Amino acid sequence: MPLIRGRLPGQLIIQYSNRCNADCPQCGMRRSEQISRYTLDKAHAKKLIDSAAANGVRSLSLTGGEPLMFLDDIVELTNHASRAGIPYVRTGTNGFIFTNSDAPDYQDRISRITEKLASTPLYTFWISMDSANPASHERMRGLNGVVTGIEKALPIFHDHGIYPAVNLGINRATGSGHRQPFLSAMGQNGFLQTFRESFESFYRFAANLGFTMANACYPMSEGSDGEREHAGDAPDSTYGAISSDTVITFSRREKSLIFQALFDTIPKFRGTLRIFSPRCSLYSLIKKYQVGQPFLFPCRGGTDFFFVECREGMIHPCGYLDDPKDELPFLGKRFGTVVNCEKCEWECFRDPSDVLGPFADFFSHPFKLLAKVMREPQFFRLLKEDLSYYKACGFFNGRLAPRTSAMLRFQRS
Ligand code: SF4
Ligand code: SF4
Repeated sequence: MPLIRGRLPGQLIIQYSNRCNADCPQCGMRRSEQISRYTLDKAHAKKLIDSAAANGVRSLSLTGGEPLMFLDDIVELTNHASRAGIPYVRTGTNGFIFTNSDAPDYQDRISRITEKLASTPLYTFWISMDSANPASHERMRGLNGVVTGIEKALPIFHDHGIYPAVNLGINRATGSGHRQPFLSAMGQNGFLQTFRESFESFYRFAANLGFTMANACYPMSEGSDGEREHAGDAPDSTYGAISSDTVITFSRREKSLIFQALFDTIPKFRGTLRIFSPRCSLYSLIKKYQVGQPFLFPCRGGTDFFFVECREGMIHPCGYLDDPKDELPFLGKRFGTVVNCEKCEWECFRDPSDVLGPFADFFSHPFKLLAKVMREPQFFRLLKEDLSYYKACGFFNGRLAPRTSAMLRFQRS
């Protein structure tokens, strides 16, 4: 039990390939980008998975690029991970499979894909979406007609016992894309209110399409609109998923307002959608960006969480720090030189570090934990509420239908 040793259950993110058939402006792997393209050797990926399972990793993400360009490999690796003892395996799609939904064979095509995924123990399947406005989303992705296709496909997934999560990459077009909000033009209140309305529109739109679960990817790039306070803080990306496009580039003050807007909006939809984004983590982010308060619980990148890039299959502390190793450590030994890194807020690592970090501290540093509780009681109130809500959500098991009656208790207008 890693928590007793002050560790978190390990998480490994494997970038299986950086090949992609979408054209998102927010991503350096878009199809129009002239970069070298790689796909991991499948046998090597299996070895990494075996080593991860033997070293305490409990959660695996198979990401890209576009994972479903390699559907059969992803199915094989998911089954392999489960046999190796990793219970939580996630993968997803940019949605390209949902284009051409008017074709006569569409239902059969989606059924065949869904059957393959449903034959595995896959825990979570995500579908990425960028905007509450279908035209904006499709323009950003470069995938025409994909929104209608998703609406037609979701009932097929549900019939096969898979409840996909919508994965929002927060950007300036989240609400509509017609009028992109900038703090310098709108002022603080206008920017905050616009993002609250954007998140409301997005969650309503996702629920109306048929989604039952949602997550949000926090913006990673930092722009310089005169408000950037710590130039150079934002890391480069081993992962390749960042971009300098203004649609995804926010100043620190803009980010603080975006985190506030998301924090304010989530309770309104907790009865409608299973929303993973923990409010305790958003609270930490708001504190960091508004008053410079360090995180209570350090990012576990490089200690319990790791990232494998697709070029050579090397293991890095995360998708952003380039510190390659060819073997995973046994969880409990420090990996590389990363200590208390605060260079980014990659939600894959930030959110579980905040949600699970206190449990590891409970066993390893109980007095430090007590001091944190005394210093930041609001964080722990939010964490308690998040955990109760997670329980009502069946811990985001994407193979189970939502229990709306249990979730409604957490809905507040
Ligand atoms: S965000 Fe995903 S779908 Fe879009 S270009 Fe990047 S890898 Fe492809
Ligand atoms: S905060 Fe975590 S994910 Fe971000 S750069 Fe540092 S170790 Fe990596």
